[in-house]
Amino acid sequence: MSSIGFIGLGNMGLPMAKNLVAAGHHVTGFDLSQAALTELAEAGGHVAQTAGQAVAAAEVVVSMLPAGRHVETVYSGDDGVLPTAPAGALLIDSSTIDVDTARRVAAAAQAAGFDMVDAPVSGGVGGAAAGSLTFMVGGSAEAFAKAKPILEIMGKNIFHAGGNGNGQVAKICNNMLLGISMIGTCEAFMLGEKLGLDAQTLFDISATASGQCWSMTSYCPAPGPVPTAPSNNEYKAGFAAAMMLKDLQLAQEASGSADCQTPMGLRATELYQQMAEKGQEELDFSGIIQMLKGAF
Ligand code: NAD
Repeated sequence: MSSIGFIGLGNMGLPMAKNLVAAGHHVTGFDLSQAALTELAEAGGHVAQTAGQAVAAAEVVVSMLPAGRHVETVYSGDDGVLPTAPAGALLIDSSTIDVDTARRVAAAAQAAGFDMVDAPVSGGVGGAAAGSLTFMVGGSAEAFAKAKPILEIMGKNIFHAGGNGNGQVAKICNNMLLGISMIGTCEAFMLGEKLGLDAQTLFDISATASGQCWSMTSYCPAPGPVPTAPSNNEYKAGFAAAMMLKDLQLAQEASGSADCQTPMGLRATELYQQMAEKGQEELDFSGIIQMLKGAF
């Protein structure tokens, strides 16, 4: 059993940390929110009042923070992980952040003598609670091998995507494709309906034809064909449009720094930005069909 320092006990981090506690690890958590610390303590975890305290005796550090700037502060700040974690500790950042920051923090960790991996997730809050997340991991083969048994407690599918930052690259490329394919699916169902083709018939045909994609077969934005989809539950998230927008913006940032043209990714970002400006960012991302139809 390992001594684990866990930083960032929000919607995702808290259930992930609880799974590590339930697996018998000695977990010491830190979050700016006192309520989150109390919840971890109630689940059998230990709590710290600073990030440094949380990792002072850690063999493994896991972080689950909102964005790159939080990760940089928590790792490289004065009372952060790099100045205080014991030599040899394995560092795992599971936040979804920009590729450049992920690579910069990993390089600083390496310079300080630590193995670090970026290990962003897909699967959402439900996956975090169930321990069924998918992890996309960037880092050396040795660091990946060390991280895998810990990640397996919190997730089901653990992929090694290559060197540092590649976990973030995999995540934003996947989610950029998802955002684009969702909008494409919305447009097809909307046009079909306008031209007199009902959603179920289009679904039955397209699900076995060349337009087939996950956005349609598992998450159809038109109500009816996929009973578990948010479209049958007033577009309650699910995966909020705000989260999709964040990932699309990260993909655009990365496209810019890689000097790569992603015009459909850009258009998808603009449309989700519009949805947020209309105050609908907490709706599920498939709810963008309502905006395209002019409902808001
Ligand atoms: P959240 O806002 O619920 O949690 C983040 C936590 O970090 C908060 O509790 C906050 O207090 C804490 N925090 C911020 N700065 C800190 C600091 N300096 N020191 C200690 N704690 C600090 O966010 P979340 O939904 O848990 O998401 C976390 C990450 O996971 C994000 O990068 C997000 O993009 C990613 N993610 C979220 C989901 C999802 O469905 N929520 C799915 C996949 C990936």
